[in-house]
Amino acid sequence: MTTPVRVRFAPSPTGKLHIGGARTALFNWAYARRHGGQFLLRIEDTDPERSTKEFEVAILDGLRWLGIDWDEGPDVGGPCGPYRQSEKYPQYRAVARQLVASGHAYYCFCSEERLEQVREQQGARKERQVYDRHCAALSSADAAARVAAGESAVVRFRVPPGETVCVDHIRGDVRFAHEEVDDWVMVRSDGSPTYNFCVVCDDVDMRITHVFRGEEHLVNTPKQVLLYRALAKTPPEFGHLPLMLGTDGKKLSKRTGDTALQDYRDNGYPPAAVLNFLCLQGWALDDRTAIFSIDQLVANFDIADVQKAGAVFDIDKFKWMAGEYLRKETPQQLAEHCAPFVVAAKLATPADLAARWAWFVEVVKTEQPRISIYGELPSRVAYLFQPDEAVAWEAEALEAVRKHPGAVQTLRAYRAWLEPRIANGVDAAALRGAAKGWAQEQGIKLPAFFQPLRLALCGVVHGADLFDVIALLGPRAVLARLEHAAQRLAG
Ligand code: GLU
Repeated sequence: MTTPVRVRFAPSPTGKLHIGGARTALFNWAYARRHGGQFLLRIEDTDPERSTKEFEVAILDGLRWLGIDWDEGPDVGGPCGPYRQSEKYPQYRAVARQLVASGHAYYCFCSEERLEQVREQQGARKERQVYDRHCAALSSADAAARVAAGESAVVRFRVPPGETVCVDHIRGDVRFAHEEVDDWVMVRSDGSPTYNFCVVCDDVDMRITHVFRGEEHLVNTPKQVLLYRALAKTPPEFGHLPLMLGTDGKKLSKRTGDTALQDYRDNGYPPAAVLNFLCLQGWALDDRTAIFSIDQLVANFDIADVQKAGAVFDIDKFKWMAGEYLRKETPQQLAEHCAPFVVAAKLATPADLAARWAWFVEVVKTEQPRISIYGELPSRVAYLFQPDEAVAWEAEALEAVRKHPGAVQTLRAYRAWLEPRIANGVDAAALRGAAKGWAQEQGIKLPAFFQPLRLALCGVVHGADLFDVIALLGPRAVLARLEHAAQRLAG
């Protein structure tokens, strides 16, 4: 490759970063890194009503959270700025004037009513609804005079006759007849430039070599390619990434999984798992490896290997993958990642956790085999943070215990047996064996022992190993909970 690769991600800050947008960013980034090229970030904020600074900040944050970095962009600058479209209006207007002067574009004075009429007539004749080129024939002198006199006008692109082929690395080269393309509006009557126009100006200014973006932009590509021609520029090579589909085969929607990257962050998906999973949305390392690193992606990524067919976004697989990543963390790392979720769930303050950090690491360690995302920890360990006299009891757990008529006695007897054995600290392994022996001697079946014990200590049906729980709670809390549970059950 002779020219250095320059690719970009060009989000519109009109909403949260969509998970599909994050994939577009990732594939562009990987392509740049693979080829030693540059990855640019450009903010397409030409829709002033819907674009906000907050969304822009959130999009950049989301990319950083994933570990995607950019070589040029609105925050880091670069030689081809501005990297925010709203800061480039004078440049776009200058290009529009240049295209009008060269005859590649023209002023159109048609009113909305006239355009509506034309569309209706075309509709009635079952024709394609396109601009009828009414103003295309005006002489440039006439048009210029009308504009100078203050008449309202848009600038339209003059689509030439012919046929064009554009390179698409994913879908195969795309051929289209120019007559399928409307004389589209480049600049609105209020002077604001339109999406297709800005994108081409920017991709030219930023010397973009490859445009990889979602399939929904395929319809725009012919317009854009013709504009490159008019500007006497070589169009970039394209790659239109397949749609991301829910497991129901329809476009990804809330029904089959969250669509905003932010939601996965908020729910506690490890970012490395999100990256790995996004890689699989249309690309694969090989036919068997699901889990691989970002370095493996960079070393192996080729746009031509991206599939054309829709990519199925399977949230169950995503969660499984999150669990795989979470289990690779050290308990210390996992504790750090889970702590904000415990705080957000109001179980503890950051200061509480800091004061008993070693204990919290042990808590996390016992749950590590059982959770898939950080956000699952709080509800599983909430009982550890509740007052001993008011452990929240799940109805189901209580119901199970009610089936054991001797539960109260069992709890009291076990408490009496346990007290001297944990007076100097809890050895979970030793206790596990000894307690089972005790139950056997007493003739108490294990469910009749464990279910009341778990209710007393945790209030739930399932959870961590009970003897680990005893160690985590510590002697004082265990004895208190056994006593309170016996009273609550008896009363
Ligand atoms: N701003 C467009 C979007 O957010 C992307 C345009 C492009 O990649 O060409 O969908």
